[in-house]
Amino acid sequence: MKVSVDQNLCYGSADCVYRVPSVFTTVDGFGAVIPGREDAGRDPRVQDAAERCPSQAISITDS
Ligand code: SF4
Repeated sequence: MKVSVDQNLCYGSADCVYRVPSVFTTVDGFGAVIPGREDAGRDPRVQDAAERCPSQAISITDS
């Protein structure tokens, strides 16, 4: 499952980076998925980070 961050929704709280630093980072002050980690959507910590993102900017999809 793929994880992605919509930078149009993200406001840069960095909560996701704090929760799962092996998957999320910040780029220009906004959350982003570390290149090569886009397939981490099955990780329960990533799913938790998506649920807790204050702007609901993190998506987990099948493809
Ligand atoms: S938790 Fe959400 S709002 Fe905060 S940096 Fe991550 S994607 Fe952006």
